[in-house]
Amino acid sequence: MYVLDDRKFGVHSNIPACCIEFYIQTWANLPKEDKHKWWITRDKLVPGYIRCNNCLTRGYFRHIHTCGLECREVLLDVGFPLDAVEKRMAFIKNRKIKDGSK
Ligand SMILES: [Zn+2]
Ligand SMILES: [Zn+2]
Repeated sequence: MYVLDDRKFGVHSNIPACCIEFYIQTWANLPKEDKHKWWITRDKLVPGYIRCNNCLTRGYFRHIHTCGLECREVLLDVGFPLDAVEKRMAFIKNRKIKDGSK
């Protein structure tokens, strides 16, 4: 599952602003059970991120960008802390090894 770290990362990933705000202000504060319920009952067609009510109702979603190693500079450029970027790059490398792709 894709994890949305914060606004900047959401924007970088092409997630609509309304859904980013919903995630940060509402969804992130829900109790764990409610989050689970949200997945099961509300958003079966999960596009890889949490959609806001409005987008759910309209059936709207965007194809999100999945970060690769080439994103390192871009992420640093938009102001991500170096340690956060390094962590993500390590995660991507790890994923590639597991996938068996280069
Ligand atoms: Zn939305
Ligand atoms: Zn990226």
